[in-house]
Amino acid sequence: MATLADPEHQFSLLPHPAPTADAVREGVLANPGFGTHFTDHMISIDWSDGLGWHDATIGPRQPIPMDPACAVLHYAQEIFEGLKAYKQADGGIALFRPEANARRFNASARRLAMPELPEAMFIDSVRRLVEIDKAWIPAAEGSSLYLRPFMFASEAFLGVRPARQYKYLVIASPAGNYFKSGAPAVSIWVSQYTRAAPGGTGAAKCGGNYAASLVPQAEAIERGHDQVVFLDAAEHKWIEELGGMNLYFVFADGSLVTPPLTGTILPGITRDSVLALARDEGLTVREERYSLDQWREDAASGRLVETFACGTAAVVTPVGKVAGHDGEFVIGSGGPGQLTQKLKSRLVAIQRGEAPDPHGWVMKL
Ligand SMILES: *Cc1c(COP(=O)(O)O)cnc(C)c1O
Repeated sequence: MATLADPEHQFSLLPHPAPTADAVREGVLANPGFGTHFTDHMISIDWSDGLGWHDATIGPRQPIPMDPACAVLHYAQEIFEGLKAYKQADGGIALFRPEANARRFNASARRLAMPELPEAMFIDSVRRLVEIDKAWIPAAEGSSLYLRPFMFASEAFLGVRPARQYKYLVIASPAGNYFKSGAPAVSIWVSQYTRAAPGGTGAAKCGGNYAASLVPQAEAIERGHDQVVFLDAAEHKWIEELGGMNLYFVFADGSLVTPPLTGTILPGITRDSVLALARDEGLTVREERYSLDQWREDAASGRLVETFACGTAAVVTPVGKVAGHDGEFVIGSGGPGQLTQKLKSRLVAIQRGEAPDPHGWVMKL
């Protein structure tokens, strides 16, 4: 059994015996959708108490044999990441801030009482999967190869304690436009459910947070909206984030506000990138609480002109309408705002290697 003292050279490679035929793959890449098609390979690394990380493989993507007592099935000890590989303007391939995903993965691991994965091993695993499946990266504008590193408790036992065995896997899925409707601006529903409470797991990227958000999200869809927005758990007053995206508010004076990272919202890498890009533009960005009442009032008075959501999957998405139990309001013209579009173009241009990268965010493969 190979342990991973030197992760650089410890992956065993098992190429897929029957990879997807070129014509079939090209068909998928012409219209990839989101999260429904997968590449031929996956990365797998095991961890156990005593051995640490071992048995790193790149092999065919396949089902994982699982004992019915597998700990993750009972107490949901699971975390994940999401990042993208982009075709570059010069024909190359690049990852966007993978070291930030590696750091956040370990922050999530600590909160869920799971072992940390050395950052170099995280980045190496992602790079290797992209390299072996690079034929799966769609080239069209707005498309990419979505990478999903994740870790779960794989020990077979029933008992409430941190597991003594884990599996880390990386899978990849070609991605087109995230929102099926392709709508220029989304409509969001203010939920009466909450996503995260102070002291909870809101800042960790764990599957459990998403399980809890499905009923509110379904309610939003049922009422004809695209996404749900959550308020804080303590006062039910302050805007936190969407189910899987952070929020920015844009004011008529050109300044921006985004909710602060107090432990109940997910520290988005897109959020952090937008913050830096807006400051590069000379704009004032405040990380401060913003209430639903203020949002409604500012949208009505014209003090607030745009709102957008941001996250890796959908990049930057304008919010056109907000609805809740006590009525609805429109943001700006109800369509995509100017600054939203500008920041989105700036970010996408850096990701695709079409603009200078002053912050060193792009990792070319
Ligand atoms: C992943 C995620 C985000 C966005 O994070 P990015 O790093 O920008 O993709 C925002 N909110 C939640 C709840 C998330 O899980």
